Amino acid sequence: METLDYRVARKRMVEEQLIAGGVRDPRVLKVMQVIPRHRFVEKGLEDQAYLDRPLTIGSGQTISQPLIVGMMTQALELKGTEKVLEIGTGSGYQTAILAELAKKIYTIERIPSLSLKARKILYRLGYYNVEFKISDGTLGWPEDAPFDAIIVTAAGPEIPHALKSQLTTGGRLVIPVGSSESQKLCVVKREKDKWTTTAISECRFVKLIGKEGWSGE
Ligand code: SAM
Repeated sequence: METLDYRVARKRMVEEQLIAGGVRDPRVLKVMQVIPRHRFVEKGLEDQAYLDRPLTIGSGQTISQPLIVGMMTQALELKGTEKVLEIGTGSGYQTAILAELAKKIYTIERIPSLSLKARKILYRLGYYNVEFKISDGTLGWPEDAPFDAIIVTAAGPEIPHALKSQLTTGGRLVIPVGSSESQKLCVVKREKDKWTTTAISECRFVKLIGKEGWSGE
């Protein structure tokens, strides 16, 4: 049972951060109004879960700021029928949003403890349309490609070729790209053998580490 306080905090998050920040997709606003973000943050940080900031989730990683989660999800243009690939499961919060908005989610995390924790909470909340993998997400998930939408929630120096090639025709890939200090949030759209990239905002993410990302820690 959740308290009224969390519901009030979530309503304020939607109005004062998401709508004010330019998130317009009613499906995105509706699910972020109901998903209990406080269940995905570290113990002791629950009272900060709806504030306009990223929070630590352990292992040097973060759960992203609500507005950036809303903007990235909106850019995927999900209607409910899609197969979606997520790179960077992290806490599982973004995964829950995708699981509400699309048909089937494939999520990859490189840090085993984060993946296992996210898997536990997502099952507990009743999300059964999610497949989990512990691996280097810069290589994608070739066995189950192509995907209608791909979201990368860590920042790489460039857009991984493997991910571009695993998009369907008409598919969308959302990814932060740039240096380790600052990046642009890019949306890549595929039309047959043509990929068009648009930058939609500035952002700052943890590093995408892997074969087609940054090396090392
Ligand atoms: N979307 C997450 C959430 O809602 O909590 C936040 C993700 S956090 C900002 C980025 C995550 O990407 C981290 O958990 C990190 O370990 C993961 N990551 C970094 N490089 C990766 C890679 N090559 N493959 C899979 N996961 C990776």
